[in-house]
Order: sequence, then structure tokens, then C-alpha cells
Amino acid sequence: TKCSDDGIFRQGQLNRYGNIQLSPAAGVLNYGQGLFEGTKAYRREDGRIFLFRPEQNAMRMQIGAERMCMPCPSTDQFVEAVKQTAIANKRWIPPFGKGALYIRPLLIGSGPILGLAPAPEYTFLVYACPVGYYFKQRTATLNLYVEEDVHRASRGGAGGVKSITNYAPVLKAMKNAKANGYSDVLYLDAVNKKYIEEVSSCNIFLVKGNVLSTPIAKGTILEGITRKSIMDIAHDLGYTFEERLIEADELFTADEVFCTGTAVGVAPVGSITYKGQRIEYKISSDLSCKQFYSRLVGIQRGVIKDERNWIVEI
Ligand code: PMP
Repeated sequence: TKCSDDGIFRQGQLNRYGNIQLSPAAGVLNYGQGLFEGTKAYRREDGRIFLFRPEQNAMRMQIGAERMCMPCPSTDQFVEAVKQTAIANKRWIPPFGKGALYIRPLLIGSGPILGLAPAPEYTFLVYACPVGYYFKQRTATLNLYVEEDVHRASRGGAGGVKSITNYAPVLKAMKNAKANGYSDVLYLDAVNKKYIEEVSSCNIFLVKGNVLSTPIAKGTILEGITRKSIMDIAHDLGYTFEERLIEADELFTADEVFCTGTAVGVAPVGSITYKGQRIEYKISSDLSCKQFYSRLVGIQRGVIKDERNWIVEI
């Protein structure tokens, strides 16, 4: 669906997957005026299909659109488009327990603009692709590398929203980390270079005793929907929860570290390499992150009561 200066998105339409036409002068191609979202449609054991908190993706896109000077579909329009995309691709949704349909909404400045300014026209589109589990083996863990030179987000930048411009600058750090056998990069804040922020596409949590901490989001961290859900689950499970500045040095004394995101789910971290030292974490079946994960998946699968109305059936 498209929208011009009036800021109102018209009724969208379903098209077969394929290329889209864009002016070479489109705002998104020249000035990176674009946002994306990511969510999944899952099948339950009985075959019913559902989404997890899609209105949160809609709201996150609205906040991002404000930051990037773009009009944005309403929450209802966004959720309806996601639902219609899932319904149209029903046959591609993997069977229960085998993965999910990853759904990718995009909002781009599609109108032509030569001088630096917001584009004169916008396009909201949604595409989808079936995905398996992030990890091939159930026992896999993340091995992170703390990057001291490349930063994901600067204060006052667009790090707090899901702008397409946040991702290309980290590719090189990720590529280097992967070439050296790490699974991903943990970024530090760009000002003090000592507080941990997040991983390339997931949020990070530390556990020490009964206290769960995650870096405070002050515009340089993407506030994940999984992160938000884990905070509520931690509260339900009786953990003390802290959202605060976390120094990278605290990684040495944490009992447990894990990452959260739509793609990874809740994934234990096996090791973190910081300032040339490799910190190893004990991996066992009684990790807190395993409790959080089973509660989250239990709610998604309908085995645990969905008290906060997180699940939307389609
Ligand atoms: N941080 C970044 C930079 C991300 O790209 C993502 C993935 N959207 C996340 C965190 C996790 O967010 P969510 O739980 O909403 O998938």
C-alpha cells in the first residue's frame, strides 16, 4: 500500500512475491529512509495458526516512523496486513515444532527526492518466508565477541528504532567475528565504550543469583518484543529485575548470560571474549534462561495461560 503527503495509507493488496519497482531517486535508496519489522506466524499442535504480540511491532514501527519523518500505517492496518500475509502463505507455515513463517513488514520512502529531505511518497509492504530454528542443535550456545572499535548506535542516532540504516554498518564486525569462529558481536556504547548494549540482532540479559539485568534502552538499544516479554515473565517467576547501565566488566562475574529476539528466541551464551579474555559460562538444564524460554514457548503453544493477551489467532 502507498501513501503520499496526506499521511493516509490506502487499502493494500496481495501480490505474488516478486520484484517491486522503485525510482532510482527513491528516498530509501539514496538516504536510507526505511524501517523494517520482524515477527513470526506459528502453528500449534492442533494446526491453528497464531501471531505473537503483532501490535507491538506496529507500535515500534510508528515510533520509528516519527524518528525517520515517515507516515505510518495504523496499528489495525499493520496487524491486518501481517494477518493477511500469513493467511495467504498458510501452506508455507511449517508444521508444529518445525519452525515458523517469518514475516517482514517494511516501510520505505519510495518517492523520488534528489535533495536531502523526506520522500514525497511512502510504501508499506509485507513479505514472508518460512524459517527453521536458529540453532541446528538444541544444545547450541552463542559465543560472542565484544567489539571495542565498531559501534552499532550513537547517542541521538537511530539505534533505538528499527531503521534499515542500523544494520549495514555492523556487517563488517559480524563478518570478522564469524571468520574468527564467534557466533555474533556484542556492542559497547559509543560514548564511554564500557557499557554493553546489544548483539547485532538480539538483546542481552545477565543473571546473577536471583537478579536479572538488561542494559537500559536510552535510544541506542532496540527494545525487543522478546526482551519486553522476558521482563514480564521474570516478574512472574519471582526474579528481581533491573534495567540499568551494565559495564562490560560485569560479564566476568555473571552466573549466566543469554540473548533474546524473534529469530534466536531465548538463547544461552556459552562464552564471551572481551579484551582478549574468553569468559566461559556454565551451561546446564537448570539455567534461568531455560525457564524463561519454556514459559514463553508454553504461552505461544497454548500450554500456559496467556494472561496478558499476547497471542493473536489468525
Ligand atoms: N536488537 C536488534 C538490533 C534487533 O534487530 C532485534 C530483532 N528485531 C532485537 C534486538 C530483538 O527484538 P525482538 O525481540 O523484537 O525480535
